[in-house]
Amino acid sequence: MSEALSARERRERLKAAPGLAAKTLERLHRQHPTAKCELDFGSPFQLIVSVVLSAQTTDANVNKATPKLFARFPDARALAAVEPSDVEPYVASLGFFRAKSRSIVGLARSLVEKHGGDVPRTLPELVALPGVGRKTANVVAGVLWNTPEGVVVDTHVQRLAQRLGWSRHTQPEPIEQDLCAILPRAKWDMAGHVLIFHGRRCCAARKPECGACRVSDVCPSAFDAEHVGRKPSKSRGPTAPTRRASD
Ligand code: SF4
Repeated sequence: MSEALSARERRERLKAAPGLAAKTLERLHRQHPTAKCELDFGSPFQLIVSVVLSAQTTDANVNKATPKLFARFPDARALAAVEPSDVEPYVASLGFFRAKSRSIVGLARSLVEKHGGDVPRTLPELVALPGVGRKTANVVAGVLWNTPEGVVVDTHVQRLAQRLGWSRHTQPEPIEQDLCAILPRAKWDMAGHVLIFHGRRCCAARKPECGACRVSDVCPSAFDAEHVGRKPSKSRGPTAPTRRASD
């Protein structure tokens, strides 16, 4: 089957999607069995710095920059001891590199002052660090200790949650609440990685490859997803994340 669903089929799939979410996620995990955090790191400090640097750029770009950065500043104490301008050359290939340099030096100083240079383990302690929001904190807690307090919702997860009928919302926070409500807590960390892998490798914003997707038999957006869950653009007009929900 490779044609867009009828309005009735779509409605039925949207209704069933939340109840099937855990199984659908398992199937997606089988499609992407190596799904994991794609940032390279050798310590909790290096992971949290890499996650902060990954804002507005790709993990691949961060991975190109961090070997030299971490060779020069391997831990929080080394990074805390310098000025942001000393760090800028190491992250100049990333967008917003001046702001990012300030962020990671501030983060390193806070880690040294409040946590002896270590990365704390609880979400409240993590989000209290400068430059660390809920998303970064959940990535770190999930990857390092499998103790996230929620599902990481980046642009891929945002899009996939809407396409799969797991959320009618368009903003990260309510989407995260929906995902936490329909997925088992033990799967929260993996859910983020699997959905990000699927978004990068199969369900791209433009031209999703529904024909190669293992869950096209249950996805409410199958073969007609191009305009579902995409960010609004001036030329394209407003996104229609759930435009079929009321069909
Ligand atoms: S690739 Fe197609 S069928 Fe698969 S999740 Fe994305 S929209 Fe649905």
